[in-house]
Amino acid sequence: METHRHAFRSLPVTHWPRRLGLAAALVALFAVAGCAPEATRQVPARPVSRPVVQQDLPTQAERICRTGLAELGADFVPLPDLTAGSCSSSNAVTLYHLASDNTRVVVTNLPRISCSLSQDLSNWTRFGVSRAAQQILGSPVVKLETFGSYNCRNVAGSSRLSAHSTASAVDISGFVLADGRRITVKGGWSGSSEERQFLRTIHQSACKRFGTVLGPEYNRAHEDHLHLELGGGKFCR
Ligand SMILES: [Zn+2]
Repeated sequence: METHRHAFRSLPVTHWPRRLGLAAALVALFAVAGCAPEATRQVPARPVSRPVVQQDLPTQAERICRTGLAELGADFVPLPDLTAGSCSSSNAVTLYHLASDNTRVVVTNLPRISCSLSQDLSNWTRFGVSRAAQQILGSPVVKLETFGSYNCRNVAGSSRLSAHSTASAVDISGFVLADGRRITVKGGWSGSSEERQFLRTIHQSACKRFGTVLGPEYNRAHEDHLHLELGGGKFCR
């Protein structure tokens, strides 16, 4: 894992995996032309008449999301899209680290998570989780433990596809603090008063940042993790 630590941040945009449409090719072509010295500037009169070499350019949405995620201080590697039966995942990344105020935060078990969800997770980790840990527990968070994101399955006990089937949900199971303490959702939800206050505080802050948040109060299936899901609708339990 460590070998990937700076894998993304060191990659220039042009090296990302790409699927290049004609429009994107032309944008890139004109961008290059626009930056060239006057003497070498050549804009083809009929650029569409030539076949375009199919490079692996990211879509604009992918590029915007990945740039935003990098600016949030995350270390990640962009992934090609995936289709597996009725499940699919686009604009996803492998996520290794997030950044909080003064520390890097390791995230575990996220080989495939939506880029947009990664941005929300990043902001929640920094502004919701690590600051709450500092204030309530006296130490910032250095590791976020998860049960993963992408998982081609239905919602437990139903025939409806879970948001995990598109890598649009992540299950948070625990936190390691800079002083070495480890707080799990399963143990801490009914743990010391500090742990209970910390977990309820970050549950509430998650509800402000994610579309759906399910925790131990929701049902037995969530007694050991917080389910955080992208989406416009607000459902917080
Ligand atoms: Zn979940």
